[in-house]
Amino acid sequence: MTAQNRPGRLKTVFLDRDGVINRDSAAYIKSWQEFEFLPGSLEALRRLTASGFTILVVTNQSAVGRGLISSETLAGIHRNMRSAIRRHGGRIRDVFFCPHVPQAGCDCRKPRPGLILQAQQRYGIDLEAAAMVGDSARDIACARRAGCALAVRVRSGIQDSVQQPPAAVETVADHVAENLLDAARWLMRRSR
Ligand SMILES: [Mg+2]
Ligand SMILES: [Zn+2]
Repeated sequence: MTAQNRPGRLKTVFLDRDGVINRDSAAYIKSWQEFEFLPGSLEALRRLTASGFTILVVTNQSAVGRGLISSETLAGIHRNMRSAIRRHGGRIRDVFFCPHVPQAGCDCRKPRPGLILQAQQRYGIDLEAAAMVGDSARDIACARRAGCALAVRVRSGIQDSVQQPPAAVETVADHVAENLLDAARWLMRRSR
């Protein structure tokens, strides 16, 4: 157990979107009709909000750069997602996304830390009191590179990539949870 694994009270949770909040699709989520909340995610968002966490979504959306979805449609999906979450008592402070294709070499596509750093700048986030929850090695690496205190991997993604070797040190999560609700419970216990 390292010092890094023992943060004080957590204030912020960064969430990946696909495979964490909603069911992922290999064909990308291109419309609100294709957006389906994963079991327990709305409840998790309600509980995290009630516990006082600032919740920020950081998501790779290369479907925009691939021309599969417009920025306007993506913005509409996020508006609908946030109002559904609000109706269930949760609150997403903001959504940061990378619209670029992998070959673009941008600094915001996870595992690069750009999205988290943008959020940090805009909202003055203390990364030593922040955790990241994601379903892929990329999310964990992004959290490490940005300097988040904790990184949690969930198994609710398309494939359980947790099992895939070899795991580079930076992609090893502090905790593996079944889904966002399980991860939220762990973080809330951890943060007390
Ligand atoms: Mg994901
Ligand atoms: Zn980008």
